[in-house]
Amino acid sequence: MRFRYCPYCGQLLVKKEIGDEGQIPFCTKCSIPLWDLFTTAVIVACVNECSEIALIRQGYVSETNHVCIAGIMKPGESAEETVAREVKEEIGVDVKSVTYIKSYPFEKKEMLMLGFKATASKAEFKLSGEVDSAQWVKFEDALPFLKAGSIAWQLVDAVIHGEAEKGAAQWNNLASSF
Ligand SMILES: [Zn+2]
Repeated sequence: MRFRYCPYCGQLLVKKEIGDEGQIPFCTKCSIPLWDLFTTAVIVACVNECSEIALIRQGYVSETNHVCIAGIMKPGESAEETVAREVKEEIGVDVKSVTYIKSYPFEKKEMLMLGFKATASKAEFKLSGEVDSAQWVKFEDALPFLKAGSIAWQLVDAVIHGEAEKGAAQWNNLASSF
């Protein structure tokens, strides 16, 4: 979201030079910058001890393709807490561990999706009303369930091919070289 008017007082914003950020919309009455906003969400590849991944189908998203568990972060929540909450809400499974994989900008929806791998014991699902069906799918069979190239597809591809761990190592190396 890009602001034209101040969401607090309704005044038309002006552009103001702010540090290295360039010209930013600014409310002269409230004396605050109004940064562009996007929604932060998590997307989760939830895997079990049998090398299977939980994929769900939601009629309002697609009649044909499956998707990963995903949801919007709530204020005050860590991304890891959002992952555990969304997995519990959507498929009724308790996660045992959560590993950050990679972030995916989803510009069409003005969203930043934080991709995670979660581990859980193979269990029966208890589906939320938002989820039409869910299944544990073997890693080697998972990609064709998803829309090719979608964020879910990219995340599952990274998780089942172990690129998650490689990616994390790369970033660690980068961080330590600064
Ligand atoms: Zn204002």
